Amino acid sequence: MKINDLSMLDTNRARYEEELTLGKWFKNIWIALSTAFKGMGITMKYVLTVKPVTIEYPEVKEELPANSRSRLFNDVDNCISCMQCADACPVDCIYITAVRRDKEAPKLKTDGGTPIKLDLKQYTIDTALCCYCGLCTVACPTQCLTHTTDYEFAQYTLGEMKYDYLASDIRAWKHRIVK
Ligand code: SF4
Ligand code: SF4
Repeated sequence: MKINDLSMLDTNRARYEEELTLGKWFKNIWIALSTAFKGMGITMKYVLTVKPVTIEYPEVKEELPANSRSRLFNDVDNCISCMQCADACPVDCIYITAVRRDKEAPKLKTDGGTPIKLDLKQYTIDTALCCYCGLCTVACPTQCLTHTTDYEFAQYTLGEMKYDYLASDIRAWKHRIVK
């Protein structure tokens, strides 16, 4: 205990040991009432004049800024399997497997016109390891890998945080979370 605390204790003790006169009794009541009203005054000022700072989540949802780094999404149809995202990732949580496309296979291009020379066989991100640094999205030459503003992706197990972006249910996120 600090010296200041000890001297405060002494002051309080002395106050309680003082004889309680009628005047002091009324003074105590006045102090109790005036501090209660002072506190209520501050509360009422906020109730009546300050706009609410909370929302009734999950019924009401807040829109995150467009440049938020939230849930990652890879639009695999525009991915050229270049591995640049995996190389940039500081925690190695992006797993990619790709094979060279058959020469006889129809030529494919991304929406931006980049030739797709590899067939993407696996594109998985373990988002339980991801630190949302955004380096992978910056490195992506076709901008198919993006951070979305979706922040509702809590899971019960770590395994459920590993997303296979070639899976049909995850491909369907495109219409829900990519703006
Ligand atoms: S946001 Fe950062 S940590 Fe997460 S996958 Fe991309 S590079 Fe890796
Ligand atoms: S950087 Fe982009 S195009 Fe290259 S593998 Fe990653 S997501 Fe695909």
